Amino acid sequence: MAQEPVFRADPFDNDKLKEECGIFGVHGQQDAANFVALGLHALQHRGQEAGGIVAHHPEHGFNNARRFGYVRDNFTSHSVMETLPGPVAIGHVRYSTAGSKGQTSIRDVQPFFGEFSMGGAAIAHNGNITNADALRRELTERGSIFQSSSDSECILHLMARSLQRTIPERMEDALRRVEGAFSVVAMTRTKLIGVRDPLGVRPLVLGKLGDGYALSSETCGLDIIGAAFVREIKPGEMVVITDNGVESSYPFRPQRPRFCIFEHVYFSRPDSILGGRSVYETREAIGRELAKENPVEADLVCPVPDSGTPAAIGFSLESGIPYAMGIIRNQYMGRTFIEPTEQIRNMGVRLKLNVNRALIKGKRVILVDDSVVRGTTSRKIKEMILDAGAKEVHFRIASPPTAWPCFYGVDTPQREKLLAATMSEEEMRQHLEVDSLKFISLDGLYRAVGEAKGRDPQHPQYCDACFSGEYPVKPTDMIEKGFEMKAAE
Ligand code: SF4
Repeated sequence: MAQEPVFRADPFDNDKLKEECGIFGVHGQQDAANFVALGLHALQHRGQEAGGIVAHHPEHGFNNARRFGYVRDNFTSHSVMETLPGPVAIGHVRYSTAGSKGQTSIRDVQPFFGEFSMGGAAIAHNGNITNADALRRELTERGSIFQSSSDSECILHLMARSLQRTIPERMEDALRRVEGAFSVVAMTRTKLIGVRDPLGVRPLVLGKLGDGYALSSETCGLDIIGAAFVREIKPGEMVVITDNGVESSYPFRPQRPRFCIFEHVYFSRPDSILGGRSVYETREAIGRELAKENPVEADLVCPVPDSGTPAAIGFSLESGIPYAMGIIRNQYMGRTFIEPTEQIRNMGVRLKLNVNRALIKGKRVILVDDSVVRGTTSRKIKEMILDAGAKEVHFRIASPPTAWPCFYGVDTPQREKLLAATMSEEEMRQHLEVDSLKFISLDGLYRAVGEAKGRDPQHPQYCDACFSGEYPVKPTDMIEKGFEMKAAE
C-alpha cells in the first residue's frame, strides 16, 4: 500500500502546551465556505498542522477540502474555494491532540463526514474524548469501520448506531456516551449545529452575520467576518440553527461549569472575549497579580514574545519597573525548515528569538513568560540574555507550575517530561540557573480571571488540572494505559 503523505509539526516549538483545534461554522450566507476560511484564518493559532472545510449546496450536495498547512496557503485559491459552494459550511484547524500525534495523516484531518439514512452530516470537534479507546473497541467489535485514528470519529459512529429519527437527536444520543471535553460544530444539508460539553471545558461562541449565523471557537473569528457577537454557547447547551433562527436545548445532565483556565493564560487570542472579559485585560491582570505576589528589584521587565507580552505589561504597570522589548521574535519563522539539518536544529530558539543587546547590557532583567513546560526554551533564553551582558535574570511566570498533563484537547508532554512534575520551585531555579524564578499562585490566577475570592477548593470554578492535578473528568483511557492520578489529600 502506498504510504500516506504526512506533515510534521514545527520542530522548534516543543516547549509549549499546544492548543488543540479551532472550529468554525456559517449558516445562511451565499458561499458560506469563504466566511469559514476567513474564520479559520483568525483561529490559526489554535492549530497549524492542517485544516478542512465541508460545505453543502442544494444542487451540488456535500463537498469537502482537507489540506495540510496554513489556511492562507490552501483556502484562498479560487480553484479550491469554487469546489465548496453553498449556504452552510463548517471548518476545522488542527494540531493533533489524539490520533497520529505530531505526524498528521490526511485521513485524520477534520471535518469528518457521514452519510445517514436521513441525509449526510459533517462534524468538527475541539477537545478530547477521554473514553475514546473504550468506545472505539466497542464500536469496532460491533462492526464499525474507522477511517481515521482520531477520537472525534467515534461521535459519527455513535450517531450511525443511534435509533433516533433526526441528526440533532442522534448527535445528542452520541454525545451522551462521550466523556471528556468537546465543543462541536456540525452541519446537515440545512442545519448548523453547535454543542458544548456539560463542563464547558472548551470555548464556543455564537455570532450574527446578516440574516445568518456563525459559530466560532473564539470571538476573534467573528470579528474577521464582521459578525456581531451574540453570546457564548453555554456549557451543556446544543443550538440548532436553521432558516427559522436558533433553537437551544440542554440535553445533558447539568454540572458545575469548569472552563479551561489556560485559555485565559495562553491559548486564546488576546483580542478575544472570554466569559465577558477581554483576554488581553485578563493577561494584564495576571501580570499585576504576579508583580504583587513576587516583587523583585530590577531595571527592566521584558516579555518572552509574543504570549508573555500582556502579562509583562501588567507586571511593569504594577511594579513601576520600565517595560522593554528585550527579546525580538522573528514573525516569519513559520515552517521555513520542515526537515532541518542537525546543525540548524541545534540553533533552536535562536532561529525564532533574538536578544535586543543594546537594551539588555548591564541590566537586571525580569523575563515574563506564560508558562514553563519542559524548561528547555527558558534555559536557552536565559543563556541568550546573559550572553548579551545582562547582570541578573529573574523569571516571572504567568501561570502556576505545570505539573500535570492535560487530557482535554491540549497537547502536553508526558508527566515525567514536565519540569514542575519532578522538581520544586527552587530546584527549577537551579536547573534554569537564574537569579530567581517565581510563578503566580493558583489563587492569584483565579483572582486575575475575575474570581475575587480566589479558587474555591470545594468547587473549583475552572478546570485547572494541569496545575492542581484535580481532573474534573476522569481520564479513563489514560488510567488504563497506566497514568496515575494524584492521591486524595
Ligand atoms: S488541564 Fe489545563 S490545559 Fe487542560 S483543560 Fe484543564 S486547565 Fe485547560
